[in-house]
Amino acid sequence: MHCPFCQHPNNRVLESRSAESDRSIRRRRECLQCERRFTTYERIEYVPIMVVKRDGSRESFDRSKLLRGVVTACEKTGVNAHAMEMLVDEIEAELQQQAIREITSEGIGEKVLARLRQLNEVAYVRFASVYRQFQGIRDFTETLSQMRGHSQDQVGSASATTEKTPVESLG
Ligand SMILES: [Zn+2]
Repeated sequence: MHCPFCQHPNNRVLESRSAESDRSIRRRRECLQCERRFTTYERIEYVPIMVVKRDGSRESFDRSKLLRGVVTACEKTGVNAHAMEMLVDEIEAELQQQAIREITSEGIGEKVLARLRQLNEVAYVRFASVYRQFQGIRDFTETLSQMRGHSQDQVGSASATTEKTPVESLG
């Protein structure tokens, strides 16, 4: 970081403090040559992630939209808000770490499903029914049987509490 006044490459940090609600770090520096002071900001670089939709159009990854989908799927399942936030955070972090710049909406859907499967059976089926846009009852029962094969041990507790079963919502 060159001094903005004399272009000298070396300086010392006088003070560091968080800024913009901890989104960045503000550093007060002093040039070792001219001794003038200047401020730098350091912040995390987020890679913009584009989502390719079914129709081929693209939109930027929208964390809150994804969370809304998860919240809807988890309604009245007993999955708590913290777990839903964690799920979305994990997916976003995964995308950021892999520096993926583009992912299909199906790709994101599969990531959500992989996690919901561990979390709650009903939420999983609901999300799957929306995300995979079942072509008919065959698709639906396939998903259901895949799921049952995978989570035999945790079936039971969650599904009993819901008022509306996924089968009813299929119409
Ligand atoms: Zn200087």
